[in-house]
Amino acid sequence: MKRLRRTKIVATLGPASHTPEMVEKLHKAGVDVFRINMSHLPREKLRDQVGMIRAQEVKAQRPITVLVDLQGPKLRVGAFAEDFATLTEGATFRLDDDPAPGDATRVSLPHPEILGALEKGHAVLIDDGKLRLVVESVEQGRSATTRVVVGGRISNRKGVSLPDTALPVAAMTDKDRADLETALEVGVDWVALSFVQRPEDVAEVKKVARGRAQVLAKIEKPQALARLDEIMEVADALMVARGDLGVEMPLERVPGIQKRITRGGRRLGKPVIVATQMLESMITSPVPTRAEVSDVATAVYEGADGVMLSAESAAGSYPVEAVAQMNRIAEEVERDTLYWQIIKSQQAEPEATGSDAIAAAANRIAATLGISTIAAWTFSGSTALRLARERPDSTILALTPRRDTARRISLAWGVHAVVTRDASDADDMAFRACKFALRAKLAKVGDRIVIVAGVPFGTPGATNMIRIAFVTAEHAARA
Ligand code: PEP
Repeated sequence: MKRLRRTKIVATLGPASHTPEMVEKLHKAGVDVFRINMSHLPREKLRDQVGMIRAQEVKAQRPITVLVDLQGPKLRVGAFAEDFATLTEGATFRLDDDPAPGDATRVSLPHPEILGALEKGHAVLIDDGKLRLVVESVEQGRSATTRVVVGGRISNRKGVSLPDTALPVAAMTDKDRADLETALEVGVDWVALSFVQRPEDVAEVKKVARGRAQVLAKIEKPQALARLDEIMEVADALMVARGDLGVEMPLERVPGIQKRITRGGRRLGKPVIVATQMLESMITSPVPTRAEVSDVATAVYEGADGVMLSAESAAGSYPVEAVAQMNRIAEEVERDTLYWQIIKSQQAEPEATGSDAIAAAANRIAATLGISTIAAWTFSGSTALRLARERPDSTILALTPRRDTARRISLAWGVHAVVTRDASDADDMAFRACKFALRAKLAKVGDRIVIVAGVPFGTPGATNMIRIAFVTAEHAARA
């Protein structure tokens, strides 16, 4: 299954799509990465869901990436005596540690550490920012008395966002830890961490994962933006999680933040996914709005590695149509010469490493000779990611003996990964690279391809070789 585009499509599974038939349809329509959201999925179902995706992988004979999204420390109020209350503007409302059911004057906030961290003047947003309170006084660790700035209906266990408060909470809740263990057991490729505040949060997940999965940091809190560079250094990939970001920050700041994160990821060679409300109206309509099409196109023009569907594919009425639409938008943008001008204008200088020097040289050779495929023999996947950082016109054909590597790097821009045994010598390296380029329809007889590799073979992080090879009838006979 050859994809024409470089930008990857991430689709969230959910009630509208978590059957083998739908997984197949979504994959055929263009999904490269399936996201499983642990905010909604019972842990005991994770193995089955991953199994369904792996079965499609076998059917399609293409690596498919599985991304598990941990819920993170989502804060919620307690319950109300009448299941809800209506808060009026100007009234006072208390958040406290009393588990008794709430009313229009108070409700429990069952997070003692948060009650201890709130300070006078801090904003308290409820239900995705629909209600807004401001803290007027605190009784440390026991309660916070607030003034209602924007009132409305508040019901049982609604989510709470605290944009001004550095939350003294661990990166992972007990639920996250248990979900992570299961995710690692069933062999997912990427784990996304929600509500990251500090680089240490990401480091903690990496410590537990011990290389069994890559770790993606969801950027959705102002505290994460304050330490963005450090978080980017630690994380293996990033997500612009615009849903919660748009609650915790003024909405108009989100587009600029998106640009900053996509550029930062590109500079570091770390994949960036742009997420949330991309084709939101397709939850209920077969056709998106013009603004949504423009939003997806903008993320692609910015050079994002992936664009993501959430409720559109998880719970909407048109999941396949949404993927097909995203596919068409990305293909169209990537056909635009302006896209390539923008991509080239953001080219980051190679770092002073052998693998970056080789990646830059391979890109230059391919551009000079009009070569459409750069084959990279890669063990850890790093060579393919450094090539993706170059954003070459050519497709990156990543050849790896490791299935987990192939699945992980399939998240990255322009990478077409194939699992095959490692090359035994330089001739084998060239011969099989040509054969796989033909088989994937990335080259035809008479074309040249660029090949990069590290010698001795099978040694991670030793990219030191570059070669140009002709694709011949002999390769075709063996493809
Ligand atoms: C988001 O907030 O944009 C996001 C992707 O996270 P979630 O879907 O888990 O709320």
